[in-house]
Amino acid sequence: MNAPRKTVSAGECNADASSDWQQWDRAYLWHPYTQMQTAPMPVPIIRGEGMYLYRPDGTRILDGISSWWVNIHGHCHPYINAALRKQAEELEHVMFAGFTHSPAAILAERLVQVLPSGLRRIFYSDNGSTAVEVALKMALQYWRNQGQEQRRAFVMLDHAYHGDTVGAMSASAASLFTESFQPLLFPVERAHAPYCYRCPAALDPARCQIDCLTSLRNILEAQSGKIAGVLVEPMLQAAGGMIIWPKKFLQGVRQLCDAHGTLMIADEVLTGFGRTGKMFACEHAQISPDLMCLSKALTGGYLPMGVTAATEEIYDAFLSDDRRKTFFHGHSFTANPLACAVSIASLELLHRENSLARVVALEALFHSRKATLQELPYVGDVRILGGVLALELVRDKQTREAGGYLDRVGPALTQAFLDRGLLLRPLGNVLYFMPPYIIRDEEAHCVLDQIEDVLQHWQWPQ
Ligand code: PLP
Repeated sequence: MNAPRKTVSAGECNADASSDWQQWDRAYLWHPYTQMQTAPMPVPIIRGEGMYLYRPDGTRILDGISSWWVNIHGHCHPYINAALRKQAEELEHVMFAGFTHSPAAILAERLVQVLPSGLRRIFYSDNGSTAVEVALKMALQYWRNQGQEQRRAFVMLDHAYHGDTVGAMSASAASLFTESFQPLLFPVERAHAPYCYRCPAALDPARCQIDCLTSLRNILEAQSGKIAGVLVEPMLQAAGGMIIWPKKFLQGVRQLCDAHGTLMIADEVLTGFGRTGKMFACEHAQISPDLMCLSKALTGGYLPMGVTAATEEIYDAFLSDDRRKTFFHGHSFTANPLACAVSIASLELLHRENSLARVVALEALFHSRKATLQELPYVGDVRILGGVLALELVRDKQTREAGGYLDRVGPALTQAFLDRGLLLRPLGNVLYFMPPYIIRDEEAHCVLDQIEDVLQHWQWPQ
């Protein structure tokens, strides 16, 4: 029964103790978004510290995209490491239905303190996609619990990306990523997004009156009383091409949702926790959504966790003696204490290190280089918001012609930057720089020098 545990020293379970692991990678692993037949070997990384990832030979790579947009304080931060270690010694996990623990409650209280006003209830899940799934399910059941079952349609925007699970794919714009799964997806209404460089209303920016909101207004009017919610990525549609919005569009979405009595759902999986220069992107437009989805930087980029924050009004609609009004959604790892502990530490660092001011300074640095970047060959548009700089590359600046996601420009540029010790991984023809907030000015300038140098000598691959 209670056999004594074998003591294992750290060295014995060290995953990189054997150099065979790189062969096992090719033999046994299935990497995401990778055409295994032709892709180059994945880059082996054995260590991370601050801005840098280290290869086995000791050479380092500057992480210019925050490891898929999750890292904000740098890799292996001593403060977060200590929080993780402490929590692991106390409680690694316990199921969250019928049980609770202090890291979950403390994190909820800290989140409510910084979230836009009105968002007071915290529901935990596993990642960005599940945070979105939860929001959609909550919205639908919110109306159902109140006898308004006719409110069951959702409005999403063109160019949206909300994740790779089936519900999140349904919410996302049709793309190469969703094409094979079309038969699984549920139908949604789709409204224009404010993609100013390729204006959906074909207007000159000087004459813009946020006319692209008309398509959302038309849908809400035509489907009056039938819409459960409008889901948007506030201010920055990232995976859709780093599309940065005028804040008036976001204000307009909130006004239209109010006018039509429907829920506004903000997917701040990427934008949350300072990435756009505000704690949450909704603050740019001084609005509060009814539901908000969070993940990525929530844990400082350490562990997978999702949060769906809701208003008290939504929560109240689930309070009942009738069990059918319960929100039947939960994951094995809901509110994992380790993930909660690192999230608390990450939030503390954000405050302690005044990270938002750092992001605002980074935005100013990007602006100081904007005119030069705009003049580079193939640069059609330069977009900047907080700690995000995006260059939309086009074959022809006049016609704005560009290949889609599959254009070879992306992988070719990724390799060119890797050869220079830089991790930048364009989304199709959109090259972007989104570093952890701790990047120093010299490092940021150095990355921009490299981008200028590469593009100056670049030939668009045929
Ligand atoms: N929502 C947005 C806005 C995202 O950018 C992403 C991922 O990039 C997701 C949702 C999905 O998050 P995850 O990859 O953690 O499932």
